[in-house]
Amino acid sequence: MPPPFSPQLSRAAPAPPVYPPLLPPPGVIPPATSRNNPFRHALHQAHLRDPYSRLVARGLDGEEGEGELFPYLSAFPVGPTPLGPKQCAFAWEFTLSPTDCQRFPQFLGTPVGQRSSRVVRDGNQIYRLRCIRVSPPTTAISPSAWSVADAVWPSLAYVFVNGAELSFRRKLHHGKDLPLEITRHLRPGTNTVTLHLIRNAAESKDQFYAAAVEVLDITSFTRAIQLATLLPAGQCRERIRQRLHPATRDDDDVSIVSEELTVSLVDPFTARIFDRPVRGQRCAHHECFDHDTWIRTRAAKSDRQALKDDWKCPICGRDARPQNLVIDGFLCEVRNILAATNRLEGARAIQVKSDGSWTLKEEADRPAPQHGGAGPEVARGPPKRKSISVDDRPASLTQRPKIEQARSHTQTQTMGYVRCSPTEVISLD
Ligand SMILES: [Zn+2]
Repeated sequence: MPPPFSPQLSRAAPAPPVYPPLLPPPGVIPPATSRNNPFRHALHQAHLRDPYSRLVARGLDGEEGEGELFPYLSAFPVGPTPLGPKQCAFAWEFTLSPTDCQRFPQFLGTPVGQRSSRVVRDGNQIYRLRCIRVSPPTTAISPSAWSVADAVWPSLAYVFVNGAELSFRRKLHHGKDLPLEITRHLRPGTNTVTLHLIRNAAESKDQFYAAAVEVLDITSFTRAIQLATLLPAGQCRERIRQRLHPATRDDDDVSIVSEELTVSLVDPFTARIFDRPVRGQRCAHHECFDHDTWIRTRAAKSDRQALKDDWKCPICGRDARPQNLVIDGFLCEVRNILAATNRLEGARAIQVKSDGSWTLKEEADRPAPQHGGAGPEVARGPPKRKSISVDDRPASLTQRPKIEQARSHTQTQTMGYVRCSPTEVISLD
């Protein structure tokens, strides 16, 4: 039923919408919010946007197509340099060969009114200038420490690359300070980067910085996997023994001595046991994560966003770049034994003794036998030998979820030098 006619309502004109002004009044300092919106707050820096990157990868059939690539910090034309408390002017030089410059991404130009674009391929290299904050007594910074530090620009700085002045993108407008890509300003021969600082009171007292020119290598999944190195099982056992029985102990400290070390077998990304266990060389923990999964989660795709190179260990936050990963030979052995004895399902952790023997902790509360070549439990028991092949596995293992079958297929194609495959024939002493 239609409402009754109201002459007063029909004469009232609708109020025009009120829009906030596009630009703030002069002199207004925008508040530093925790959720910056670069599309609004960095509108005046649209010309500093990263180029659109079209990532081209070569498939297994050799054909090129749009795909995933993996950027990681690989080298320093100018190594990490503490800037100290007083010096205001810095100039660094480094030389690039024509071959180095041929590894730049292929820039496609900048149409009028559009952002620039480029094609990035396996083997390309991208050069960046970055500053980080360091503690005042810092005199040297390791590549690993540098790789996990966030970019932080000094409050007021001017940078020139081969005479061209470049601008920073800061946290105020972009949510966080962003590295400054300088690839397009480099050339064969000698390249010069200058940095001039004007420090505020805090930066003259205890807020110090370091700067470096770094290279991002762009690599395929296969090459990224091959960069890891194997840590033999014997060295892994020795590492556990030292953890349980440290050689030196400060008597002034209260020490907790344990006979067993619990090591989780669960990959933090997939919540199941890893296929090939890796961790960073500098990681102090013994837990590992799955190699393929870790690399896959770092993939860069064709996007309008900057290429990300976050390789912080998912367990401790230290350097876990592809070239700094170690494959734990001991946990590879553990996984192979679990696979051969049909105990992969539900395997969550093991308890390792200082002699290298270990006991499985399963989800289900059921007893598990012990393994370990040098362990006293094994030595006391009767000698036994068992050979298990893939055909001996029960249907429950051969019918594993699709995700694992697909991952195993990839592993077989990409890995030739380390195998943790459950299809191996293993003899148990
Ligand atoms: Zn770690």
